[in-house]
Amino acid sequence: MNPESITPPTPSTPTAQPSAAPPEPKPSADGIFRRGFGLKGDISADLADDYHSQLVEELRSGGNRMTRGDIEIRLAKEFGFCYGVDKAVDFAYEARRNFPDRRIFLTAEIIHNPRVNRRLMEMGIEFLSGQYAKGTTLAGVGPGDVVVLPAFGVSIGELEQLQATGCVLVDTTCGSVIHVWKRVEKYARDGFTSLIHGKAEHEETIATASYASHGGRGRHVVVRDKAEAELICDFIRTGEGGEALTKKFADAASDGFEFERDLGRIGVANQTTMLSSESLEIGAMVREAMAERYGADAADAHFRSFDTICHATQERQDAVAEMMSEPPGLMIVIGGFNSSNTGHLSEIASEHCPTYHIEDLECMISRDRIRHKPPEPGAEPTKTERWYPETRPLVIGVTAGASTPNRVVGEVIALLLEWGEGEGEA
Ligand code: SF4
Repeated sequence: MNPESITPPTPSTPTAQPSAAPPEPKPSADGIFRRGFGLKGDISADLADDYHSQLVEELRSGGNRMTRGDIEIRLAKEFGFCYGVDKAVDFAYEARRNFPDRRIFLTAEIIHNPRVNRRLMEMGIEFLSGQYAKGTTLAGVGPGDVVVLPAFGVSIGELEQLQATGCVLVDTTCGSVIHVWKRVEKYARDGFTSLIHGKAEHEETIATASYASHGGRGRHVVVRDKAEAELICDFIRTGEGGEALTKKFADAASDGFEFERDLGRIGVANQTTMLSSESLEIGAMVREAMAERYGADAADAHFRSFDTICHATQERQDAVAEMMSEPPGLMIVIGGFNSSNTGHLSEIASEHCPTYHIEDLECMISRDRIRHKPPEPGAEPTKTERWYPETRPLVIGVTAGASTPNRVVGEVIALLLEWGEGEGEA
């Protein structure tokens, strides 16, 4: 048939008009991109390739349980990427797509997960600090560059330095972290010193502390755990030992902090990823000390508290606690060794069953040897022999911190199942 002779059908519907081009991504009033670049659809296949796991989907559809022979895998109800991490990783991928020809930097690890940070390096994103940095520092950033701020945020001082370079800023700071900043800023406005339950060297706490003490308007002191909080409480009660405290908290308090002067009114806040039960206890301890010092009726004038543990952290901790009502024979917790929220999941589980906090698949060296981080505070990663139990049937609990991709979870579970086959010989 001669194609020329075909009469085109009369369209029954009006000819489709070309759709309007999507609006240009615009930065916020301060020039910072905080809403991505409208490229979610363009990067979704890359994200699925890098982080999706079919095995995890199968587990989810089976009620988070899976049995193979004598091995049962129980996956925590809540685990892995949280909303803040999802957003941060999305924005970083979108930034790479939106600025294909520019240098792109991260101020530090975008989240505490080696797989994700290494993937960003492969995409040509460089790090200005931390274990992945290759030499360029903030001083080497110029107006043509793009700098991505991580999910933990950056301090006010660092943000000001970055803005002074004239670079394009892409801010992935999690909304739950910004919520804490607002809280400590309010404490400062109201004349309260922020007592932050967190790790003084953690990026998020460094940023939060900068908001608590910005421009010398407020003060802060960071306590890592109940033992450190108790030292502060003793001082509130007795007024003694200020000199020793000044030395102990030299790197964990605002410049010029004076224990005699600055502990009269305290507002408690926390790094979003701390152990929530400990944060609540610390709040109660400080309140009690204030009541002893100033009298129960006056305690409210000297003490405020606001639980700033984020929902994602809370849900993951609750899910492990629920799993421990019927403890498995072995628990695997997956996440960066420097991931605060992952460490606390391991801490909770280890009170009930043998628990190994591993960073990635390569930590599972063999059925005879595993590299892991013990749950005790300050412990360094170590190797343990003969870790895989030989008892059968065996229930293995699995969870993952808020920065761990499902891909890693799925790979670890697949290997656990493979090694569980047979009669338990190593
Ligand atoms: S753990 Fe919480 S605060 Fe941190 S990124 Fe996730 S949701 Fe945000």
